[in-house]
Amino acid sequence: MSATESSRLFDRASAVIPGGVNSPVRAFRAVGGTPRFMVAAAGPYLWDADGNRYVDLVSSWGPMILGHAHPAVVDAVRTTATRGLSFGTPTIGEVELAEEIVRRVPPVEQVRLVNSGTEATMSAIRLARGVTGRPVVVKFAGHYHGHVDALLVAAGSGVATFGLPSSPGVTGAQAADTIVAPYNDLDAVRALFTERGTEIAAVIAEAAAGNMGAVPPDPGFNAALRELCHAHGALLILDEVMTGFRVSAAGWFGLERVSADLYTFGKVMSGGLPAAAFGGAAELMAYLAPAGPVYQAGTLSGNPVAVAAGLATLRAADQEVYARLDAAATRLAGLLDQALEAEGVPHLVQTAGSLLSVFFTDTTTAAVRNYAGVHATQTWRFPAFFHALLACGVYAPPSAFESWFVSAALDTEAFEVVAAALPHAARAAAQAREGA
Ligand SMILES: *Cc1c(COP(=O)(O)O)cnc(C)c1O
Repeated sequence: MSATESSRLFDRASAVIPGGVNSPVRAFRAVGGTPRFMVAAAGPYLWDADGNRYVDLVSSWGPMILGHAHPAVVDAVRTTATRGLSFGTPTIGEVELAEEIVRRVPPVEQVRLVNSGTEATMSAIRLARGVTGRPVVVKFAGHYHGHVDALLVAAGSGVATFGLPSSPGVTGAQAADTIVAPYNDLDAVRALFTERGTEIAAVIAEAAAGNMGAVPPDPGFNAALRELCHAHGALLILDEVMTGFRVSAAGWFGLERVSADLYTFGKVMSGGLPAAAFGGAAELMAYLAPAGPVYQAGTLSGNPVAVAAGLATLRAADQEVYARLDAAATRLAGLLDQALEAEGVPHLVQTAGSLLSVFFTDTTTAAVRNYAGVHATQTWRFPAFFHALLACGVYAPPSAFESWFVSAALDTEAFEVVAAALPHAARAAAQAREGA
């Protein structure tokens, strides 16, 4: 497969865009090589600038559950766009999208629409701090909540590690009120509450972790977080930007009925345009301006075209779509397992609902439960595995630390491409050498 045109475009991009990309993981730094410039997409496929076709197992990092260029979504966008792109006034579409979200996720009574998942978590944290009058936020190592300053904090060792900035530009002051805890470790969270319970405004967690690979919460973990928060007057924020409206009609809440105080959403509810949301009980959301004192705003928030794409996506995502997503994830997991098994590659295909990821690990009986567990895997096998898939027309996430995202558009033909590619990729993974 040629990547001549992608290479040329990447050179051009690198001159005017830092690293040649507008979001770091797109740059292929973790796997090496040239990122492919995509020019078109339809159903389960992407086409790059050199005319190569790929089966898409990334789905724009989550949003495209229906597959690409779904007719109902494209129609909604086209119809809405011809009536004007932005009014800076309330619109019907925003109400309908809010109603759809509230209908699907019962603990959410009101939502505020924003433009990205980052804005959603940033705003939810501001709201939690405003409501409780407390400064501290607890997050988990390996969980990603967007590039919010206060949440860009690395895992420290030990339980009550104070956050240190993991990115230059995040000041000590911005990170000082963030505490990082190991995931799936209730004792660590209990100890934090014992020590600093009266300062903690909120615990924020991915409802099921998907940003270090797919690492679901242990049974009872989310429920225990909720109890601990409430016993100490703190709020639980479940970040469903990735899982929301993907792993079920109601997101992770549909699989494990633990209600949080605040939720964040994005990705699927955007339909592929910039839109996201945060929400919760009406009583809490009433603290937001203009009803209350916590300020939050956005010139393009609730943009009519973005809202139309999100609403059309959610309306098309019926039980049949969720059944297809589950079936596709099961089928993909089975194919991955089979191919890696055949080549004797130590591995674990782990799932969180229909999110899945491949961990290269010898400890095939034990689940990967936290960030330390993810780092202990043989991530050096991943670049060879990834590039063999790419060369056979399968677009997997270009990082060992990301989940794979199926779409309901993956059909027999697309799965044939994947099934034909996987033995080559498994062989490449088997032949990979550490440090090579
Ligand atoms: C993607 C993601 C975000 C950030 O969303 P953006 O739209 O990229 O800002 C936040 N939280 C989770 C769980 C995510 O997966």
